[in-house]
Amino acid sequence: MLKNKRIFVLGMGKSGCAVARLLAKDNHVLITDVKCNDINLIDELEKLGINVIITKNQDEILDDSYDFVVKNPGVRLDHPAILKAKKYNIPVITELEVAYRYLPKVKIVGITGSNGKTTTTIIAYEFLKAAGISAHLAGNIGYPLCDQIGEIKKDDVLVVEISSHQLANLDTFKVDIAVLTNLYPVHLDFFGNYENYKKNKLRIFRNQDLSCLAILNKGDKEVYELTHDLKVRKSYFSSNGDADICITSDYIVYKGEKIVDISDIRVKGKHNYENIMAAILVAKEFGISNEIIKEVLDNFAGVEHRIEFVRRLNGREFYNDSKATNVDSTITALKTFSNETILILGGLDRGHSFEPLLPYLKNTKHIVCYGETKERIKDFAIKHHIDVTVMDNLEEATKAAYNISLDGDIILFSPACASWDQYKNFEERGNEFKRVVSELS
Ligand code: ADP
Repeated sequence: MLKNKRIFVLGMGKSGCAVARLLAKDNHVLITDVKCNDINLIDELEKLGINVIITKNQDEILDDSYDFVVKNPGVRLDHPAILKAKKYNIPVITELEVAYRYLPKVKIVGITGSNGKTTTTIIAYEFLKAAGISAHLAGNIGYPLCDQIGEIKKDDVLVVEISSHQLANLDTFKVDIAVLTNLYPVHLDFFGNYENYKKNKLRIFRNQDLSCLAILNKGDKEVYELTHDLKVRKSYFSSNGDADICITSDYIVYKGEKIVDISDIRVKGKHNYENIMAAILVAKEFGISNEIIKEVLDNFAGVEHRIEFVRRLNGREFYNDSKATNVDSTITALKTFSNETILILGGLDRGHSFEPLLPYLKNTKHIVCYGETKERIKDFAIKHHIDVTVMDNLEEATKAAYNISLDGDIILFSPACASWDQYKNFEERGNEFKRVVSELS
């Protein structure tokens, strides 16, 4: 618990506001952002006694009187206010770390990795709930832990999705069961290089001891190499080989026991089977039966905006994969389908290359592109002799994709770019795609 401290909260996102609300009662809290158009939010925070300052020069309002800086996970590590905090020796922490200091004795399942965090987190949570365990979903999944402190009781289980940005400033936070799904070179702009990014991922294990468990992807060479000498208990999953849980003759098999026929699982793709296997290893740590696991999987239809089936219309199937904000995620989606595909790509231009998509475009007969990256995607398609149509926005792109398509085709919206050129977030973008698809006739 923090009492009578001076706290500087950098960033008024969901998690920053949750921290400020939690700490306001017993501490002096200042929260700052470069902009905030939500007058009601400012008013609400001020009524709690929180000092709200909107300014571009946040470093100027930080002085050495503060005990902690709570950084929004997305704020860069070289932000002027963070550098200044370091100069003053003020500890920089994140929302999860604050929440941790308020928790009763609970069991924490922490899930990280480059891809599959949300899906694995949700499946693991569903297993626990189905088994009657008092569990809470929290973290990067959109539910700040600080918001839930009052509801969490002793011996509850927290299933926490932890992004690499959140890991960067964890200090005492101890994860009892840590899951590392996979590693891909993403967020390199934030971490400087892949080595730093990987080293940062290891922070999920930093407070673990021999009583703790690490659930690891044995099929991911980099995960294995990075973690095989950790001094913790380990359970391995793999979609392509020998592990505690793996796929054998089209079954997910745990230590020789057939758990589920993969043809009975509604979500498709090797990546989803990996997420499911990681979540089953969590369930097994809580002694959950195969019957409960199977029942949950029978009903699990996937997570919204992640290769989400939207509609079948005149023999075409539409899939919304708006969460695919990088090329690796789009590759995962492309690997899932064997039918001829019309692929809709586009969004924020981070200067990233589309070349890695090429080996996976064998079934893609046409690319429709839009948004900030449309010209670069067009050049990529022309260079590789793939038919391409350029549109200004997602609505036009979706209609164009439908007009081009034939009976039996997949229309896949898996943009390989972030949404921020035209949308607030990937959820808003995915909802727009689904709206346009639902209005097609
Ligand atoms: P995250 O929370 O890590 O961003 P999600 O579960 O939200 O991951 O999935 C986002 C996208 O990442 C999915 O649409 C899919 O394209 C890809 N993906 C999901 N799981 C995996 C996995 N295990 N391996 C590789 N890619 C994956």
